[in-house]
Amino acid sequence: MSRTPTVLDGPALWPAQAHLPSVLGRQIVIDRAAGSYLHTVDGRRLFDGTAGLWYANIGHGHPALAEAAREQMLRLETYHVFSRFVNDQAIALGERLAGLSPIADPKVILNSGGSDAIDVACKLARRHWQREGRPGKTVVISREHAYHGLHAFGTSIAGIEVNREGYGTESLVPETVRVPVHDVDALAKTIAELGADTIAAFVTEPVQGTGGVNPPAPGYLEAVQELCRDNDILFVLDEVITGFGRTGTMFAAERYGLQPDLVTFAKGVTSGYAPLGGVLVAPRIWEPFYADGADTPAFRYGATYSGHATACAVAQANLDVLERDGLVARAAELEQLLDTRLAQLAANRPSVAEVRVGGFLGGVTVVDEIRAEDVTDALLDLGFVSRPLRGNNLQISPPFITTDDELVAFVDAIDHVLAEQE
Ligand code: PLP
Repeated sequence: MSRTPTVLDGPALWPAQAHLPSVLGRQIVIDRAAGSYLHTVDGRRLFDGTAGLWYANIGHGHPALAEAAREQMLRLETYHVFSRFVNDQAIALGERLAGLSPIADPKVILNSGGSDAIDVACKLARRHWQREGRPGKTVVISREHAYHGLHAFGTSIAGIEVNREGYGTESLVPETVRVPVHDVDALAKTIAELGADTIAAFVTEPVQGTGGVNPPAPGYLEAVQELCRDNDILFVLDEVITGFGRTGTMFAAERYGLQPDLVTFAKGVTSGYAPLGGVLVAPRIWEPFYADGADTPAFRYGATYSGHATACAVAQANLDVLERDGLVARAAELEQLLDTRLAQLAANRPSVAEVRVGGFLGGVTVVDEIRAEDVTDALLDLGFVSRPLRGNNLQISPPFITTDDELVAFVDAIDHVLAEQE
């Protein structure tokens, strides 16, 4: 059967999260990167003002990570971690992450990224209550505008509606409910309406990222944690963006003084040099599965690349760089500068409706008359990568190796573009 070729034919690769007619023919093809800069196939150099998708925390092209991957692949590319088998790198990384964890004495589940981590955390939450003899506790509550990846649970608990649409009336996984972003009372009301006996877990990003960069209102996270404790609901902190330094502490849980039951992580654990994510699990959840006995239950999670040895070796090298170069403290410094500069931007530019900073990540809300997409397109022409986020927002989350001058130049470029579009 013949068919008429169209402008949409493009390359065979189907771009992710893309409205294809808006993207094809305009793709920015990166073929090299070093430090905070990307290089395109057509010879442009761009400041990576988003650290990719919030992952390139130590910057791009670090030779120590390349060397770690090479050495590991030559020794053992990987061996799976199913049943009696395991590899030494997965064990070593588990120990190191347990030492950094905001949860005391955790067990560490490793897999391939944030969506994996969320799926495992939500399954484990339901499995926990089933094992406790309370199988009715299945509902997973999340927040409006939340992003928790795009696997089955992540899609179903998404608060960004476009990510839920088209997969069935209840999305993929039934029994998921959303509550407004900073509203403790709304969560309390939802718990009362549904009944705590039906609820397995509350999942939240400490600083909401893709939803537009929404740092927690003062006291919010502490209050929802208490509400969860009081109602026997597991408190799941999605630290896929915030983990490994983005909020100026190793985990945001430390910054906000939280003791979650489960913590999901990904991105910053390898700074994106290898696909890796996972879940930190509190003792009250893991202990029964570790009990010695024939009737001890098993938690059936896992994928071929769970605990991938090369990804784990790369994570170790990434954590070495993060610690040796003091990059978590540097992220805290950069947060202060970002805060000051965005406040000035908001004061200067009538087209800025609001700015928000929570860690070294910032959101700039642009007034309705200007489209965030147009601003990010104009920024690209000036050599800066930002990203339009939900709610007509601009994403600002450069690598932690960014210099003061580079950050100032980035915010100045936003100022310049907005001035031109006002
Ligand atoms: N959770 C949060 C808070 C995220 O921001 C993301 C990705 O951006 C995910 C989960 C999903 O992670 P991944 O894309 O690695 O599957």
